[in-house]
Amino acid sequence: MSLSEEQAASLSAETVVVAAGRPARERDAAVNPPIVLSSTYVGTGPLGPGDRGYGRYSNPTWDPFEEALAQLEGAALPGLLYASGLAAVSSALSLLPPQGVLVMPSHSYAGSLGMATELAERGTLELRTVDIADTDAVLAQLAPAGGRPANMLWLESPTNPMLGIADIPALTAAAHAAGALVVTDNTFSTPLVQQPLSLGSDVVLHSVTKYLSGHSDVVLGALVTSDEDLHARLLHHRTIHGGIAGPFEAWLALRGLRTLALRIERSQASAALLAERLSSHPLVQSIRYPGLASDPGHERARKQMKGFGSVLCIEMAPAAGLSGADAADRMIRALRLWLPATSLGGVESLIERRRRHTAEPTSVPDNLVRLSVGIENVEDLWADLEQALAALGG
Ligand SMILES: *Cc1c(COP(=O)(O)O)cnc(C)c1O
Repeated sequence: MSLSEEQAASLSAETVVVAAGRPARERDAAVNPPIVLSSTYVGTGPLGPGDRGYGRYSNPTWDPFEEALAQLEGAALPGLLYASGLAAVSSALSLLPPQGVLVMPSHSYAGSLGMATELAERGTLELRTVDIADTDAVLAQLAPAGGRPANMLWLESPTNPMLGIADIPALTAAAHAAGALVVTDNTFSTPLVQQPLSLGSDVVLHSVTKYLSGHSDVVLGALVTSDEDLHARLLHHRTIHGGIAGPFEAWLALRGLRTLALRIERSQASAALLAERLSSHPLVQSIRYPGLASDPGHERARKQMKGFGSVLCIEMAPAAGLSGADAADRMIRALRLWLPATSLGGVESLIERRRRHTAEPTSVPDNLVRLSVGIENVEDLWADLEQALAALGG
């Protein structure tokens, strides 16, 4: 590949997203890796490590993305692509021993929490949910007096959709002291904003569907680790459970990754400005964005993140004789530019009231609206929000 580990370590992430995972520099070589469509590979004799063998074991189209993601996360081993973020969640949870104890944020991504809850109901694991921003509460769940210590700590920071900030270095240290592995879902931040391996995590998870691909046209997931044993176990799980990426999706993800730095730079700056303006709007009851100095997670976020991400949440005040939730729905219907859709991390700005999902925990306020800020002109985004709020009498 075009970029060695040493080169990648000496370059800024803005350069690595562009330069990593390209074919070797040879005369007439393609600048971009090709899409390889083959379910099997020619060979004779026993298959060994590094042999491609069969399309479920490996595909040359996965390699450049897996290498680029590892270089961005500062991992010593290639990343592992999966069919979706949740296929990666499933693989990460397979690292738990039978009936192992899992400590998870009560406001984790709803799919991750749903999977863990089902596994707990079946007796496959013991699930302890906790407010991940409350360090003492997490410590108590990791090593309860007289109780079983945890086997795995799941981290998401900022959390979805409450945007709580975990003290990642303190929690990973406590988890390791209790003998637990740490998996961090880094979807909201991307490695450009937060590098969980350097903060002590053992495994980093991404829904590649979101920022890394960036164009709302791909569903993929990934795991990254520097631990040889964990890597081998995860690769084995992916191979025998079959949650593999399609070559075309893998190619699209790498194409999307090329502009990640520019997209993040723009969307973070816009999110900060919109958060500032929304925070003083009379129809906004409260706002969550770790970039605001008034946010409870601000100081922690400043220490462990580079920027504050591009997702913010508002709670709508009651207006026009409507409850906050109904006012939120009406405001969203009045928007012309922001797209009313779930998901986040794409070039286009998306907005949704989270409790429209029946699986969303009831601890998420029903008037909470999540905004994923895209890369459009920020004044256009603001004007659209302003006119939709004005339609409510704000
Ligand atoms: C979307 C998402 C997932 C799940 O990923 P899919 O690609 O939809 O399967 C996991 N974690 C977070 C934080 C997400 O936003």
